[in-house]
Amino acid sequence: MRTRISSVLLTPGVDRETHIPFIPDAEIHIDGNRIVYAGKAADAPSFAADKEIDGRGRLAMPGLCNLHTHTAMTLLRSIGSDLPLDRWLTEAIWPLEKFLTADAVTVGTELGMMEMLRFGTTSFNDMYFQMDSVAQAVTDCGMRAMLGYGVIDFDESCADLLPGIDFAEKWNGAADGRIRVNIAPHSEGATTRKCMERSLEEAKRLNVAIHLHVDETQKDKSGCLERRGMTAASYMNEMGMLDQPVIAAHCVWLSDEDIALFAEKGVTIVHNPISNLKLASGVAPIAKMLDAGCKVALGTDGVASNNNLNLWEEMKLMPMLQKGTTLDPTVVSPAQVLRAATLTGAEALGYSDLGLLKPGYLADLILVDFRTAHTCPWNDPESDLIYAVQGSDVSLTMVDGKVLYEDGRFTTLDEKDILARAEKEAQRILEAGGRK
Ligand SMILES: [Zn+2]
Repeated sequence: MRTRISSVLLTPGVDRETHIPFIPDAEIHIDGNRIVYAGKAADAPSFAADKEIDGRGRLAMPGLCNLHTHTAMTLLRSIGSDLPLDRWLTEAIWPLEKFLTADAVTVGTELGMMEMLRFGTTSFNDMYFQMDSVAQAVTDCGMRAMLGYGVIDFDESCADLLPGIDFAEKWNGAADGRIRVNIAPHSEGATTRKCMERSLEEAKRLNVAIHLHVDETQKDKSGCLERRGMTAASYMNEMGMLDQPVIAAHCVWLSDEDIALFAEKGVTIVHNPISNLKLASGVAPIAKMLDAGCKVALGTDGVASNNNLNLWEEMKLMPMLQKGTTLDPTVVSPAQVLRAATLTGAEALGYSDLGLLKPGYLADLILVDFRTAHTCPWNDPESDLIYAVQGSDVSLTMVDGKVLYEDGRFTTLDEKDILARAEKEAQRILEAGGRK
């Protein structure tokens, strides 16, 4: 398939730029799953297209990357609201998760992908269980994902690690390369040292990243100091984990030394501001991390603590929280936010050809309507994009050169059927857990 998007306002995304570049009256040519041209219409080479997309009144930009989520938790949306993290997990979430069957995880993932596509997310990094169901759903839907089997280990049996390794071996590079895998030991507090070390060995052997939760709460941090006599960052460094690609979710309570270490080692920190606020975990010092040279990406976390998968909300809160907590309105620029939501995430997923709209890059892109009451008159495109645009302004989402969402319709997902099955599964789980 050869696709042309014409008469569009283009932002190719942000790499080293300090401002978001915008190119008016642009054209994008897509051949198969790659961008072959993205720039001024006046300079475009001739291109015979099978499909023409009219970009008038719309902004084309790289698709969003949600770097930390537990997608199938959509079935537990809003469960356990307003509890602290430990009670939320032990009283609300874990007692229900044991009733999540393979079928439930399939429909929960489909529901989550529908929501992500609707709001312009094209790839995501998922940690959960029943991961064969997740991988199959991603394969069928057409999204791009990095998937890891969440490993918990309190008795040194490392029992969860084996299915995680089997899963990684089976699915790495599947779905025409749209699926990549990682090893996902849940966190320092939910695993033994033996399990962490074996996770690292396996990640090295498979040449994949490690995805885990780091210092989500103050209690995580004090608990780690008690258990290990050092911070989680030092613990990971001591065992050599930081020499492997690491995706560290939350990082709310990192010390200045931890921040310097993560910057030096190139760890990707995933900022999940809404989940951290809702569970009263705190506010990660993102401005300080960016200044120190840390890689910062964005995530929603699971919807039970968010309560949606709309990454635009994280994009707005990321700079707002830093301005509010540092009392400095100049910190965290729109360009830094856009990079976090796109290129930094794509790089952490292991791609060097994703996250920008440039020739040779994979065609994961979205179109955003900017002729709306809440974005008119579009006086300052950078500010408008980060602070005024809503997720619902996304009118087209393309992954790997294929349109998966356009003007309210999904091309690979049956919305009515998924909503009905999701309601039924959620009902069954709540009844089994004695909540209905
Ligand atoms: Zn999480």
